[in-house]
Amino acid sequence: MKRLAVLGHPVTHSRSPAMQTAALEALGLAREWSYEAIDVSPEALTARVRSLPDQGFIGVNVTIPHKEAALALATEASVAATEIGAANTLTFGEGEIRAENTDAPALLVALPEPPAGQRALVLGAGGAARAVAWALATGGADVEVWNRTPSRAGVLLGDLAPAIAAHQGAGSLTRATTGRVGETNYHLLVNCTSVGLASTGRADPFTDLPPLSGVRFGPELVVVDLVYGRAESILLREARAGGASTVDGLEILVRQGAESLRAWTGLEPPLDAMRAAARGG
Ligand code: NAP
Repeated sequence: MKRLAVLGHPVTHSRSPAMQTAALEALGLAREWSYEAIDVSPEALTARVRSLPDQGFIGVNVTIPHKEAALALATEASVAATEIGAANTLTFGEGEIRAENTDAPALLVALPEPPAGQRALVLGAGGAARAVAWALATGGADVEVWNRTPSRAGVLLGDLAPAIAAHQGAGSLTRATTGRVGETNYHLLVNCTSVGLASTGRADPFTDLPPLSGVRFGPELVVVDLVYGRAESILLREARAGGASTVDGLEILVRQGAESLRAWTGLEPPLDAMRAAARGG
């Protein structure tokens, strides 16, 4: 059996096992390949990852809180993982651990059009925001970053901006200068904070995220919300009602999982089967 897994702590909430198992079934690989969830504490991560190849594992996804540590364990890393400073995909070879970050390409392929030349506002400065800001700016967008804790946005800019500037065709990465989305001409707005799940009943994006106060959505704007749950997020519900194009967090999850599956199997991922499974549970 060729084994795959997602490593996290906690990991029971993850949609990846259902989504990747559906993908393996759709590809006709379910008899030879499997995908499971493994809860690993930060203290146990290094030893656990190093033991996986001998147990038949071909590769793993890693999620919160292991993405930085996963990169540190790698013997080889993609440009994206290295520059973002985090990996969500490990692939095992002969004594080798290859690290990739598929969160970044996932965002780009989920957008209705490539972001080159567009003006983007990224809300947040955590791990998700780092991948999103890197993807958009290396994809040629002019990206502004806003975060509740300004010093954390400063760290993101300090870490990523020099590397991005060295990419041919890159846009820019700066601190958000704007007060409100409605008063600017952004093409793209990406919520990378954990604010705004309708089902949680707390943390309203329009009060917790000041750039959004007074926003008027229109058809010229693409709004992406990385937050996902059973219900549509508050931000996407309002954006859609205002005529904006929307991309939800489950689509981003599907796309990052698809890129990981491609890295492990070399096969074209069955996106529809993955979407159905990710949304089904
Ligand atoms: P993280 O590193 O913990 O960062 C959380 C971010 O949210 C920080 O910028 C934080 O601001 C901000 N924040 C939290 N509560 C806030 C509030 N009440 N008001 C304003 N800002 C607030 O988390 P992450 O890994 O970047 O993940 C962020 C979100 O994206 C999570 O909901 C996660 O589930 C989701 N995500 C989705 C995908 C996907 O595939 N769809 C992938 C990755 C992540 P401070 O710095 O001020 O604390």
